[in-house]
Amino acid sequence: FVSMYQRFLRSVEENPDKPLFLLQGGETVSYSQTLETSQAIAARLIDDGVKPGDRVAMQVGKSPEAIALYLASLQIGAVFLPLNSAYTSKEMEYFVTDATPRVLVCSPDSAADYQHWEGLVVETLGVVQDGTLLSSHRKHSEIFTAGPEDLTSILYTSGTTGRSKGAMLTHQNLASNCEALLEAWEYTAEDTLIHALPIFHIHGLFVATNMTLAAGASMHYLPTFDAEEIIHLFSEATVLMGVPTFYTRLLKNLRLSEESCAGMRLFVSGSAPLLASDHEAFRKRTGHAIVERYGMTETGMNTTNPYSGGPRKPGTVGRPLPGTRVRVVDRETGQRLPDGEVGLVEVLGPNVFRGYWQMPDKTAGEFRHDGFFITGDLGRIDEDGYLCIVGRDKDLVISGGYNVYPKEIEEHIDAHPDVQESAVIGVPHSDLGEAVMAVVVPISGTDPQPEDLLAFIANDLARFKQPKAVRIIGELPRNLMGKIQKATLRERYAHLFA
Ligand code: ATP
Ligand code: MG
Repeated sequence: FVSMYQRFLRSVEENPDKPLFLLQGGETVSYSQTLETSQAIAARLIDDGVKPGDRVAMQVGKSPEAIALYLASLQIGAVFLPLNSAYTSKEMEYFVTDATPRVLVCSPDSAADYQHWEGLVVETLGVVQDGTLLSSHRKHSEIFTAGPEDLTSILYTSGTTGRSKGAMLTHQNLASNCEALLEAWEYTAEDTLIHALPIFHIHGLFVATNMTLAAGASMHYLPTFDAEEIIHLFSEATVLMGVPTFYTRLLKNLRLSEESCAGMRLFVSGSAPLLASDHEAFRKRTGHAIVERYGMTETGMNTTNPYSGGPRKPGTVGRPLPGTRVRVVDRETGQRLPDGEVGLVEVLGPNVFRGYWQMPDKTAGEFRHDGFFITGDLGRIDEDGYLCIVGRDKDLVISGGYNVYPKEIEEHIDAHPDVQESAVIGVPHSDLGEAVMAVVVPISGTDPQPEDLLAFIANDLARFKQPKAVRIIGELPRNLMGKIQKATLRERYAHLFA
C-alpha cells in the first residue's frame, strides 16, 4: 500500500526543483519548497499537541501553504478537515462542535472570532505567506505510518439536500481513487493542470490536487475562475478540471476557439450535470469532447467517460473506474434492475468511505448488507454500460402516484431554441400530492412564453409528466460548485398550488 503522502514524497525525490504551483504573476513554488513548508507546519502542529487521529480543521483562502497544511496533516497522521471559506463563525460552530478539532487554522482576520472557543488551538494562515502557522523555525521530518484503513480526512458534503454530513475518508480511499484516475485520464508528470476550483471540496482537493501531487505534475493555481485568464492559460497547460458552470462561462467568451485550446489534451467536468448542449457546443467550438465523470464526497470518483478506448457520450457519466462496481436497484425493493431501467445508484469499492462522522444510524441506513453504498442518486445503465444520472432521489417528483424524473422533462424543455436551461421540481398539490413545475431560464434576448414551452413538449411527454406551471426567471440558484439548489426552488414555489 502506497499512501498519498508517500506518493508526494516520491514526486519530491524525482524532481525536487520542479514547480508544483504556478502562481498568478509568474511566481512558482517547487516540490521541495512545498515539502519544507509542510514540515515546518507539521512541527507547529506537533507543538500544538496534535496526535495521530486528532482533527486539524482549516478555513482559509486558497494558497500553496494551505496544501502544505494538508500534507503536514497527512504526514503526522492527523485527520484533515477543510471547511468552506464562506462559512460565517455562526455556521462554523456546527462543524467545530461536530468534529471537535484540536487545531483550527483560520484566516488572520477571523482569528478573533474563534480565540475564545474552548479546547481549540487557533492558528492563522493568510494568502501571502503570513500567519502563526508558518512561524516554526523547526522542521518535523518524522512520518507517522498510517494504515490503509486509518482516517485521513473528514470532508463535509456540499449540503445540497440538507445539512452537510462529515464523510470519513481513509488513506486507502484517497490513494486508490487517485490511482484509478491517473490511469483513466493518463495523467502524468508531463501534465500542467489549470486549477481554479476551491480546495475544500473533493473535486479541487482529492481529485485535482492529489492527482497532481502523485503524478509529479504542475498546476496553475488560481484563486477563482476567470474565463479570460483561463483561455489565456490554455497555451501553457494541458488539462482543465472544472464544474459545468466553467464550461458554460467559457462558451460565452468569444476567444474560446480551436486555436486557443491547441495545447490542451483534456477537459474534465463534474460535481453537477453538464448540459448535453454545452458538451456539443464545446466540441463544435474547440474540437474537444469534455470528459464527464461522476463522484461524490462519500465515494470519490465512481465513473468516468473514457479518455481513450471508447466514445465520450454527452449526457452520460461513463463507466465505472477500475476497482469500483456500480449497480442500479429498485428504489422501493432494493432489487437489482435490468439495464435501461431507472433506479437508485449504488457503489462498492476501495473508494467508498467508512461512514458519516458521529452518525452511526445514518451510516447503517445507507449501506446494503453486501457493502454497497446507496448514493442517493437515480440513474440507469445504457446499452454500452455507461451510467446516466437522471437526478437525485430527493428531487424525484411523485405526481398522482407516478414517478417523474426531472431530467427527462428538463431535456425536452432545453431543446426549445429560446431556452438556456431549466429545472423541474415537484411542489405540493392538494390533489396530486406533488405537481410538476418547470423553472426556465431563457437565452438572453429571447422571451419564450410558458404556453409556447408547454406546447413545444406536449407531443413528446405523457400527460402526467407535463408541468402544471412554468415560471421564467433570469438565473437558477446555484452554489459555488455550480449545483442547482432545487430545495431553494421548492421553497420559493411551495405555495403555488397549496
Ligand atoms: P449533500 O450530500 O450534502 O446534499 P452534495 O450531494 O451536493 O450535498 P457532494 O458530495 O459535493 O455533495 O456532491 C455529490 C453529488 O453531486 C452526487 O451525489 C451527484 O448528485 C452530483 N454529481 C456529481 N457529479 C455529477 C455528474 N457528473 N452528473 C450529475 N450529478 C453529479
Ligand atoms: Mg450528497
